[in-house]
Amino acid sequence: MSTFDAVVIEDLDMKGMSQALNFGKSVADNGWGMFTSFLQYKLSERGKQLIKIDTKTCSSCGNTQPMPMEIRTYACSSGLNIDRDYNSALNIKKEGIRLLASAY
Ligand SMILES: [Zn+2]
Repeated sequence: MSTFDAVVIEDLDMKGMSQALNFGKSVADNGWGMFTSFLQYKLSERGKQLIKIDTKTCSSCGNTQPMPMEIRTYACSSGLNIDRDYNSALNIKKEGIRLLASAY
């Protein structure tokens, strides 16, 4: 736990996911939520950060749009048109740099 300063997770749309996978409501409410709460707690105990990434944000212009799980490409009116995971990765990088810059 001592070799990193932050954990970055995708802020999953558990409502959409539980519908897509036919999970019950309780899974969405308790499973992921409990895990992230526990993670947040354990990290803050050690002075680390939990960073949640919003997959709905355009990594180019910052606009947001709904991104249901079945949509694999992030297409924005700003002209951005890339794989959704790559867009998320760019958001993670930007957010990570922003948080680290503000911490020092
Ligand atoms: Zn855009």
